[in-house]
Amino acid sequence: MEYVLQTNDLKKSYKSFQALDGLTMRVPKGSVYGLVGKNGAGKTTLLRLICGLQKPTSGSFQLYGIRNDSKDIIQSRRRIGAMVETPSVYMDMTAEDNLKQQYLILGLPSYDGIPELLELSGLEKAGKKKAKHFSLGMKQRLGIAMALASEPDFLILDEPVNGLDPQGIVETREMILNLNRERQITVLICSHILDELSRLATHYGIIDRGRMVKELSAEELNTACRKSMRMEVSDIAALTRALDAMNLEYQVISDTTADVFARMSVTQLVMALAKENCEVLSLRERVENLESYFISLVGGGGEC
Ligand code: ATP
Repeated sequence: MEYVLQTNDLKKSYKSFQALDGLTMRVPKGSVYGLVGKNGAGKTTLLRLICGLQKPTSGSFQLYGIRNDSKDIIQSRRRIGAMVETPSVYMDMTAEDNLKQQYLILGLPSYDGIPELLELSGLEKAGKKKAKHFSLGMKQRLGIAMALASEPDFLILDEPVNGLDPQGIVETREMILNLNRERQITVLICSHILDELSRLATHYGIIDRGRMVKELSAEELNTACRKSMRMEVSDIAALTRALDAMNLEYQVISDTTADVFARMSVTQLVMALAKENCEVLSLRERVENLESYFISLVGGGGEC
């Protein structure tokens, strides 16, 4: 597999505080990579290092195969478009003028790409409206359009749907999916909104205290988040005997609880348990999602 970004044992400390503590991650080409972590896990620090705003304390990373300590890293960085935290939109300007400004900053020779960017961000009808009168979703999409001015093939978005209303979330999601699917742009997204992230991401990196806890694809997450039946019983040994006899896959959670992963005849199982004087205290279907998977890996408490 080809990787747009690879980090190797990347460390960044601020005095004695270790914000990144040996982070190793790989962002596949063409993916939408969701970076998930609690507040302070080190996400923004990582983005700052990739974009060249700060230097690693130790370790390295490669952007398009070029190491961060090579002089050619500048060429690789030109392939990145980033919107980190709030978009840097001039509020007294229209969408078109904001894009012109961005073209000037980047030293681009002509404004030819602007109509397409306006269309892509759904702002072609915003006309003479100044950005200060835009909805948050429009501002966010303008921010993404500005990050696209340099025609990057790697887009980094920090919290792109934070604070948006449902309509804004849908529009931003569609824009990101379109960029990824139609233009083959690799996207790295940091988001606290895990439900939304799971509608976009093809790959995930779950980080905690500056380290990679788990990196997995959406398919692997789906497998890990299988449906199960959580059973609470009076005698766990009797339950495991019955499940073994029925050849069902399960996982014991506690002295009284187990998750059963296969479809099963509840009646048959309850009858088998009754023969062993084992009572079923509760039975409920569980479907793990990104959020519960995340909590099972890094624990609850603190905002993700
Ligand atoms: P959030 O989701 O809240 O943005 P994050 O995962 O982006 O969190 P970072 O901003 O990377 O986390 O911060 C990681 C840790 O490093 C935090 O504990 C933060 O306080 C600390 N930190 C970040 N920048 C500095 C700095 N310039 N000096 C000292 N400590 C810093």
